[in-house]
Amino acid sequence: MPGFNAEKDPDIFVMKTYENSYILLTPGPLSTSPTVREAMLRDWCTWDDDYNLGIVTPIREILVNIATKSADEYTTVLMQGSGTFSVEATLGSVIPQNGKVLVLVNGAYGKRMAKIASYLNISHAVLDSGETSWPDIEAVRKALANDPAITHVAMVHNETTTGMLNPVDVIGAEVKKSGKIFIVDAMSSFGGIPMDLADLGIDFLISSANKCIQGVPGFGFVIARRDKLARCQGQARSLSLDLYDQWNTMETGKGKWRFTSPTHTVRAFHQALQELKEEGGVRARNARYAQNHKILVKGMERLGFETLLPAEMQSPIITAFYSPTSPEYRFADFYAKLKTNGFVIYPGKVSVADTFRIGTIGHVFPNDFERLIEVMEHVHAKTCLCI
Ligand SMILES: *Cc1c(COP(=O)(O)O)cnc(C)c1O
Repeated sequence: MPGFNAEKDPDIFVMKTYENSYILLTPGPLSTSPTVREAMLRDWCTWDDDYNLGIVTPIREILVNIATKSADEYTTVLMQGSGTFSVEATLGSVIPQNGKVLVLVNGAYGKRMAKIASYLNISHAVLDSGETSWPDIEAVRKALANDPAITHVAMVHNETTTGMLNPVDVIGAEVKKSGKIFIVDAMSSFGGIPMDLADLGIDFLISSANKCIQGVPGFGFVIARRDKLARCQGQARSLSLDLYDQWNTMETGKGKWRFTSPTHTVRAFHQALQELKEEGGVRARNARYAQNHKILVKGMERLGFETLLPAEMQSPIITAFYSPTSPEYRFADFYAKLKTNGFVIYPGKVSVADTFRIGTIGHVFPNDFERLIEVMEHVHAKTCLCI
């Protein structure tokens, strides 16, 4: 664009060039702020101090401080790839050859951890409580007592399949009592739900750039108990996903990544962390998400929709609704109509029922959900999706 100056003309820049034609109610990627997207518009050298000391190091420090009051005991590793790469890096690097992991499953992401263990030939046991139930604490206790080979326990915090918020506190206490290492996939909750890793007994927590911190996709991160990670040298089952080596390089190289880092994404993430702080931190963000969720559920219930989960299991992150039962209903049509009106939703992912999902995280606000309900009412009446 000749003669175009983003700094002089920010409105034209955002409105004409980069405005989204719809918002993403899909966690994630999710809707990001124009300023987060704008932060990507310059290039960075992957090994220069401007990048490593100016961007990467502060990110690592901020993440630990968001994660716990006991920041001295924890450290952060950033890892290229989507969130799953960081889950795989963690399972593949922290469980030794003679270790065994107990995986608690109640949805697709718990299942994925078990699948990663299979791929990597990691000895594992699975406790599946079904997609609409919390893990059975008695069964966990029994498994830990009866199988001394188990060294690690892994579970998902917010199971994005359904929006179920799992009781990591109760399970964490049990895992600590038995002296095992606790790995939590908090991909879709970290930054959006207040938690303290030390209080919860979490040794390794995994999340990614494009969820509640509201960055763009491209990397994940692991917040680890420093002493536990320090013991993982030489255990990795993959070179590029060696969590220990990545950490060691970042520590000794002061923010250096082993291989090409997603520089623009990392810069955007740094901006997203500033914006989390400006919003008032995790508590304030959680309050906004809770408000989004409340408006969504109240409005949808008024229109006759029903949530898959009871309120006490439900997170404010994503909500699964039963699909309309009318014979005219097709998810693809429903999706397309909402998209035309500026909203992109998620298909269902559970096997027990026909559902669709609506996310309430990202750069989205209560008035967006009020608008969504108005549109939904219209779409609902027009297509006779009477349920
Ligand atoms: C998003 C998500 C992941 C990672 O998914 P990617 O597509 O690899 O980013 C893992 N676990 C949970 C619970 C998630 O919500």
